[in-house]
Parts: sequence; C-alpha cells; structure tokens
Amino acid sequence: MSKSLFQTVSIDLAERSYDIHIGSGLLNLEAMLDGLPRATSVLIVSNETVAPLYAARLAESLGKKYAHVLTLALPDGEVHKNWQTLNLIFDTLLQNGCDRKTLLVALGGGVVGDMTGYAAASFMRGVPFLQIPTTLLSQVDSSVGGKTGINHPLGKNMIGAFYQPLRVICDLDTLQTLPDRELSAGLAEVIKYGPIADLSFMDWLEHNMDALRARDVTAMAHAVQRSCEIKAWVVAQDEREGGLRAILNFGHTFGHAIEAGMGYGAWLHGEAVGCGMVMAAQLSLRLGLVDAGLVARLHALTLRAGLPVVGPVLDATDNAGRYLQLMRLDKKADAGQIKFVLIDGASKATVQGAPDALVREVIDACCK
Ligand code: NAD
Ligand code: MG
Repeated sequence: MSKSLFQTVSIDLAERSYDIHIGSGLLNLEAMLDGLPRATSVLIVSNETVAPLYAARLAESLGKKYAHVLTLALPDGEVHKNWQTLNLIFDTLLQNGCDRKTLLVALGGGVVGDMTGYAAASFMRGVPFLQIPTTLLSQVDSSVGGKTGINHPLGKNMIGAFYQPLRVICDLDTLQTLPDRELSAGLAEVIKYGPIADLSFMDWLEHNMDALRARDVTAMAHAVQRSCEIKAWVVAQDEREGGLRAILNFGHTFGHAIEAGMGYGAWLHGEAVGCGMVMAAQLSLRLGLVDAGLVARLHALTLRAGLPVVGPVLDATDNAGRYLQLMRLDKKADAGQIKFVLIDGASKATVQGAPDALVREVIDACCK
C-alpha cells in the first residue's frame, strides 16, 4: 500500500477556488477523488511517454468511482501543442458519447495540461477538469493558475482561455522517471519564487538543492508546496494578469530572447529562464536595486540546479543588439518598451523598463 501523507495548498479564487494536493502515492489514493462531481465517463488525456508509465494506475483508481474510464495518449512534444492534436481530444469525447458532465483529467507535463485544460474549457462550453501534473515544471507552475491553450504557427500560447481545474494532484513519485534535464528545467521555476517573493525560501533551496536533485521526496514536497503557495498567492490577487502576476516572469524576458534566438527547443524553457534570472539579477544590480552578494548567490544556486548561467551568443557582430531586438518583439513588451522583472533583495519584484545601455552591459557581461 502506498503512503497517504499529503499536503494541501488552497488557491483562493472565490467560486473558482480549488485545492492542490501534494504527496507520494497519490495516483493510487482514492481519497484524492473525494468530492469530485458524479459523471458517467472520464477521459484521461496523457501522451505516449507518460501514459505507459502512469495511466493504468490512475485508471484503476478512477474506475472505482466512474463507470467508463477512457485514456487518450497524444503524441509527445511542444510541436504537437496545436489544433490538430487538440482535435484528437474532441474526436475521442464525441466518438465515445461523452457529455457535459464528463470529467477530463490531464496526466502529463505542461503541454498535456495546457491542451486538456483548453479542451475542457471549450468542449460543450465547459466540462469539469482535473490536473495531474507529472513534471516538476507543471507541478510548480503550469498546473496552477488557470492558463490553458495551444500554440499557433505564428506564436506560442496564442490561442487559449483562463479555465480553472477542480483540483490539482501532484504525485511526487511521478518525478522519479523524469529526465534529469527536465528536472533541472523545473528547478528554474522553483528558484524563481525565492527572489521575487520569499528570500527565506531561497535560503532553504541553498540547503536542499542536492536533495532536490536526488529527488528526495521530503525535500521535493516542500519545494512544490512553497512554490504552489507563492504562485497561488500571486494568482489570487491577479487571476487574469492585470499587474502583479507579471512578477512570475522573473528571468523570462532574457529567457524568451534566448529561446527565440536559439530556435525553440534548442534550450528548454527552464534552462533559458535559469540563465535569464541571472541576467535579470545583473540588471537589478546595475540599477542599484540589489547587492552583489544576492546576485552571486542566485548565480551559484542556478548552477547547482544544473542550469546554464552563461547566455549564448546569438549574433557574432552585435549580440546585445540581437537580444534587444528579440526582447522588443516579446509579447510582454509594451509598444516596443521592454519590460524586465527586477528584484530588490527584500523578497519583492518590480516590473519596469531599463536604459538600453545598461541592458547591453548585462548582455555583454553574461554571454559567451
Ligand atoms: P512537457 O509537457 O513537454 O514535458 C516534458 C517532457 O517530459 C515530455 O517529453 C513529457 O512527455 C515528459 N514527461 C512528463 N512527465 C514525465 C514523467 N513523470 N516521467 C517521464 N517523462 C515525463 O513540458 P513541461 O515543461 O512540463 O511544460 C511545458 C509547457 O507548459 C509549455 O507548453 C508551456 O507553454 C506550458 N506552460 C504553461 C503555463 C501555464 O500557466 N499554463 C506555465 C508554464 C508553462
Ligand atoms: Mg516559465
């Protein structure tokens, strides 16, 4: 029998409030399904990598509560986060006579979670939806906050909806099979929460980074819990990204330039964010917002997470110019004015512009 110890983080969004359960052995734990609505059918949406590992275990638990449990394994990868793949979800729902009570369950990383959430938001104008994230990144970031959607050939995440799940279940055991590189990418989004919201969490990460890389369940439980608490606190104040939610993009302005400049997929998103955080911290230092000690600590922690801390050269003649050009195109830029998330060394972040000359200095200092 699996252990049934779990922690719960609540996300407070009035009538759309929900719980995030974090623990070990949760895929097998029937208590995880308590209080979910009745339905005749459930569709587990996963992918061809994750379904063989975990779908049967989950289907068994769901089968005790629901009469028909269907499983759909989508092709794996960000390139499949599109209309054609989304349509496979609708095909399965309609071919199997699913109705507006059918529960959709996302079992996988952020790609599966975003697509399943969007399918749930739109099938029959909205069906109940459960998130079971199986990557560290999806447990600490994408499954929390209600952003769902797919990519368009002209831009990432361009088609989507805000749609909150009924519940999020983070089974830490699933992280045991995650490739090392994906684990490190998830750690970037964990590290992010320290400088922007809780420096004592950064201290904790400094003491526990080795345990996290060894996938120690107790350490992982705390990292996921604290990350979800911070994201929940931010999202509860700004569900639809009118302001505060932008601080969650710490490291992402430089990071997006790296991802776009290298060609999407060359660097994992979390790798680009890791390096981008170091660059954003350097910019904060040059603006006199933070001291060199904190910047050095963030650099060291990012490195220990297995993440790159030196930015790639995107253009041999005018590298800083290329970064600036890419950052101006970023969807978060405001009429060509680049927005940076900067840290103040006291658990707070601000979103602001910065003089090009300083940004160039940072890029020159951080790229090789
Ligand atoms: P992913 O979903 O592509 O998963 C990464 C890889 O790990 C995939 O190959 C996947 O099949 C595999 N995998 C997943 N779980 C596994 C497990 N337990 N064992 C072994 N392999 C496993 O990537 P991701 O990093 O989880 O998510 C990235 C996506 O999330 C992007 O599309 C991004 O746009 C989205 N995202 C959304 C939000 C949001 O707020 N909705 C936030 C951040 C990111
Ligand atoms: Mg991110």
